[in-house]
Amino acid sequence: MSYTALYRKWRPTTFDDVKGQDHIVQTLQNQITSQRIGHAYLFCGTRGTGKTSIAKIFARAVNCEHPQDGSPCNECPTCRGILSGSSLNVVEIDAASNNGVENIREIREQVQYPPTEGKYRVYIIDEVHMLSTGAFNALLKTLEEPPSYVIFILATTEVHKIPITVLSRCQRYDFKRISIPTLVARLKELTDAEGIQVEEKALSYIAKAADGSMRDALSLLDQCVAFHYGKLLTYDNVLEVLGAVDTTVFSSLFRAVVQKDTKACIYQLEDLVNQGRELGQFVNDFIWYMRNLLLLGTADDAETILEMSEDNIRLMKEEAALEDPETLMRYIRVFSELSNQIRYGSQKRVLVELAFIKLTKPAMEHNLDSILQRIQDIEDRLEDGSFAAAGGGFGPAGFPASAPPGTGGGGTAQAPGNPGTAGMSPGGQPASVSGVPTGNQPPAGASAAPVQTPPRQVELPPGQLEDLNLVRNEWGKIIREIGGSVRSNFRNTVVEPSGESCLCIVFTSPDAYYIGNRPTTLGEIERHVEAAYGKTIYFKTRLAGAGERFDTIYVSRREMEEKIHTNIEEEDF
Ligand SMILES: [Zn+2]
Repeated sequence: MSYTALYRKWRPTTFDDVKGQDHIVQTLQNQITSQRIGHAYLFCGTRGTGKTSIAKIFARAVNCEHPQDGSPCNECPTCRGILSGSSLNVVEIDAASNNGVENIREIREQVQYPPTEGKYRVYIIDEVHMLSTGAFNALLKTLEEPPSYVIFILATTEVHKIPITVLSRCQRYDFKRISIPTLVARLKELTDAEGIQVEEKALSYIAKAADGSMRDALSLLDQCVAFHYGKLLTYDNVLEVLGAVDTTVFSSLFRAVVQKDTKACIYQLEDLVNQGRELGQFVNDFIWYMRNLLLLGTADDAETILEMSEDNIRLMKEEAALEDPETLMRYIRVFSELSNQIRYGSQKRVLVELAFIKLTKPAMEHNLDSILQRIQDIEDRLEDGSFAAAGGGFGPAGFPASAPPGTGGGGTAQAPGNPGTAGMSPGGQPASVSGVPTGNQPPAGASAAPVQTPPRQVELPPGQLEDLNLVRNEWGKIIREIGGSVRSNFRNTVVEPSGESCLCIVFTSPDAYYIGNRPTTLGEIERHVEAAYGKTIYFKTRLAGAGERFDTIYVSRREMEEKIHTNIEEEDF
């Protein structure tokens, strides 16, 4: 018996079948019923969230002879023509492989002639961010004066790569990651219809692993069903097929690490190996597990980000409280290093064992992180009296607060706050090691700052400097007012210039960056800035490099000239 991939078979054909993007579907249906159709749409969002599916349904709906509530009937000759791919009214272009000027020029030739049947000619350009600059310019000309019968739907996973000139001519729709309950409901619907027997818990695991993507959810389900065709698909089957590990295992491993029980860790690892678990996958899942613990322990509204059952959240919160954030970050760093090594390592099991020894016996490790942890351990023992201090005790070690070089400059823009203090810098390098007791030295704060090169000065055009200064001055307020996950994840970010009407948000924490760089989040900030300050500024994001400095001073040409002038005068002295 042949088996058709669920993902192909169950591609949505009407707006009703599209799950998890209700706000977008509703708006588009309203436009069709009220005959107020735009000429350029931009669909942005992560993979598998329904961008091209919705684009195709929309393309049929605008041409359909008997649309129902703004949805295509899929029965009339026009709908059928489009569904079978024989109609010339809907053209799909993959910009990843057709990204040159000539490809867009071809479209411009075509759009001069109205369609012979149906009302609209619809161009769906997927991965539009891959177009070359020349191609974007060519596209722009058509977007400026589109013929009444032409609709462009541009789809992208990387909206920050789209030129502002193109953005400003499109209606923009931000596709959300699809929530776990929505994914589960859809998977349930499909398995029922297909007569596939499956445990609820199994579907839930697949939905979680799909990370907001319907396409991934369906192809994971396909993989599992292919292995266990015609039998009940259980949670254990799914873990097995995906090479994954039950979360209760992570929980018990984590508790063993906290209790510094190396032996328990090694035994549990042996069990996993005996069950044939894939260790690379295990390491990544364990990192993810600890990342969730870290979020629960540090972010106010982590629950809303994690999308887990209340029971699970309660259990994990208990675990998060067992270890302080700095230690958790060390664990994550050790395992992140491991995940790189293990990919090419031949002795995977030994490498994982080694990592567990590092976590449970920091005394055997010689890097800064573990020294800090050893000090922390000593402090804990001092506090609870299980350790008598030998001779002059030392003050609170902790993370020395790194002080940025004091280079305040009049009205010039500088990085707000000090991103180094968050302790989340990717390099994980605290500014100095003076927290380590070394006899009678003065405490960290008093020691002379190491010799630093002066900050760079960069000249900006007046408009860009004005935008930068405005946003930097208001940045704290902006993220507070937007609230939610923006408030918690953008706390330690720095804003830097990035060309005309564009600013780049620099993250120092990889976790915050992962959440913060979503197009929907950036869209939210852009709309807020527009509403509050009447400025159209686009935002993009990047992750700071290890040890990167944020003290660049941005000045206008006039300030630059004045500075140079003063410098010359000073040299005369
Ligand atoms: Zn129709």
